[in-house]
Amino acid sequence: MKALSKLHPREGLWMIHAPVPEPGPDDVLIRIKKTGICGTDIHIWNWDDWAASTVPVPMITGHEFAGEIVEVGHNVTDLEIGQRCSGEGHLIGKTSRQSRAGKFHLDPATRGIGVNEQGAFAQYLRLPAFNVVPLPDDIPDDIGAILDPLGNAVHTALSFDLIGEDVLITGAGPIGIMAAAVARHAGARHVVITDVNPDRLRLAAEVADVVPVNVAEQDLAETVSDLKMKQGFDVGLEMSGNQRALDQMVDAMTMGGRIAMLGIPPGKSPVDWSRIVFKAITIKGVYGREIFETWYKMIAMLQNGLDVSRVITHRFAVDDFEAGFAAMKSGQSGKVVLDWT
Ligand code: NAD
Ligand code: ZN
Repeated sequence: MKALSKLHPREGLWMIHAPVPEPGPDDVLIRIKKTGICGTDIHIWNWDDWAASTVPVPMITGHEFAGEIVEVGHNVTDLEIGQRCSGEGHLIGKTSRQSRAGKFHLDPATRGIGVNEQGAFAQYLRLPAFNVVPLPDDIPDDIGAILDPLGNAVHTALSFDLIGEDVLITGAGPIGIMAAAVARHAGARHVVITDVNPDRLRLAAEVADVVPVNVAEQDLAETVSDLKMKQGFDVGLEMSGNQRALDQMVDAMTMGGRIAMLGIPPGKSPVDWSRIVFKAITIKGVYGREIFETWYKMIAMLQNGLDVSRVITHRFAVDDFEAGFAAMKSGQSGKVVLDWT
C-alpha cells in the first residue's frame, strides 16, 4: 500500500510502499479515503525538537481520517465490513486508574497513531475496534477526516457553560475557527476571535458569525466597549499557543472568568499569576477529546445545524501531498484534506 512515512530524521515526508497491516483479533482494518493534515504533522514534517524527541523513525504519520472498514478481527462483533467510519487516534491502556474509571481521555499511558504508532496517512489503517467511530450517512468523508480537530474544538468549547456568555477565542487557526462555530451553535452571546493573520480572520468570519479582531492592528478593549460588554469576557478559549494571546486574554476576562487552554505554549511561559488570583479566574488545560463523549456530541451537533465545512480550504490527491503540506505551512489555509481514493 501507499503510505506517507517519516523515513529519515530530517525535514520532509516520503511516499513509500508498505505492507498492509494485519488486524489482530480486537482490531479492524480501515481503507482510508480522506485524511486531514494537522499542525502535529507539520511539526513531524519540520522535524522540530518535539518531533525529534517523540517520534521513532520510520513512522507512518497522520491521525485525522475517514474511511471504510474492510476487515474485522474475530473478537469484533459490533462492526461490519463496509461501515464508513472515523476514529479516535489516541490508543488508551486499560490498567490506569483513569481508564478503569471510564475517563479514557485522561489515561497517562495514551499512545497516538501517526506519532507513537503507525498512522493513517496510508491506504490502510489497523485500529482497535474500540477506537472506531461509525459515520452516519449525512456526514461526508471530508468532514469525517476533520472530526479529530473538530473534537479538540468541541472538547475545549464545551468545557464551560456558553449559553448567553461572552466568549473570547485567541487564535483563528482551524481549531479556533471551529470552536467559534461551536460557541455560536451552543448559544453564546458575543463571540470574538483574535489573530494577527488577516487571512485567518477573514476565514473565521466566513465560517462563523463572529467578531474578528486583528490584535496586531486593533485594540481588543475597543471591541469590548463597542459590544457594550460591561466587564469583559465570561469564557476564554486559548487556541493560539501564543504567550501574548494568553496575557491579553487574562486582561480581557471578567471577574470569575473561566479559561480553557488548548494552545500549547512553547516551553515555560511567564504568567502574571496575581491577575489570575485577583480576578478569581479558573483555568482548565484541555488535551485531545473526551473519549467518546466529544465524538457523540460533535456528531449530534453536525446533524443539527453545526456547519464547519468551509474551514476546509484545500483538497489534494495524495500524490500531491507536498502541495498540501505547502498550503498548510503557508498560514493561508484552513484545513487541508488529502484524498486517498
Ligand atoms: P494554528 O497554528 O493553525 O493556529 C494558531 C493561530 O494563532 C494562528 O492563526 C496564529 O496566527 C494565531 N496567533 C499567533 N499569535 C497570536 C496572538 N498574539 N493572538 C491571537 N492569535 C495569534 O493551530 P491549530 O491547528 O488551530 O491549533 C491551535 C492550537 O492548539 C495550537 O497551539 C496547537 O498546538 C494546539 N493543539 C492542542 C491540542 C491539545 O490536545 N491540547 C490538540 C490540537 C492542537
Ligand atoms: Zn490533529
